[in-house]
Amino acid sequence: MESGASSGSEARGFLKVYLRIEGETAERFLRIKDYLGLKKDTEVLRALINFYWREKKEEFEFSRKPSEAQPLLEHFNVCEDGVLVLDRSLANSVSKGRIVDVRLRPEGAWCEYRGSRDCRHAGFVLGIPEVREILRRKERK
Ligand SMILES: [Zn+2]
Repeated sequence: MESGASSGSEARGFLKVYLRIEGETAERFLRIKDYLGLKKDTEVLRALINFYWREKKEEFEFSRKPSEAQPLLEHFNVCEDGVLVLDRSLANSVSKGRIVDVRLRPEGAWCEYRGSRDCRHAGFVLGIPEVREILRRKERK
């Protein structure tokens, strides 16, 4: 079984795909085509893309937003006790992200959300110079 897709031409808003499929994949393709009652192979591809998009829409939207405009993690309000981290990957239909409280303890950064020292939030705050400074001060005490 071999399937390969190559993009012939790629311009903004325009994409041409040549697709060669054989065996089982080809059979599945034809069954889908038949099931959808479509006449053209290209229509099947279009239907599949739209179907997949509907199914995975939320995942795509979450993963796209940060790279387009905003970082996935952003910190604000750094103080002796902790840091608030806005995590945009934890967005849902109601909110665009979740604010995670990372506590700064003498033994290190502690994420209240995960209940962990090893999650991405704790790791993220350790990259903030101000936080490292606070933790160094606390370790000494
Ligand atoms: Zn966390």
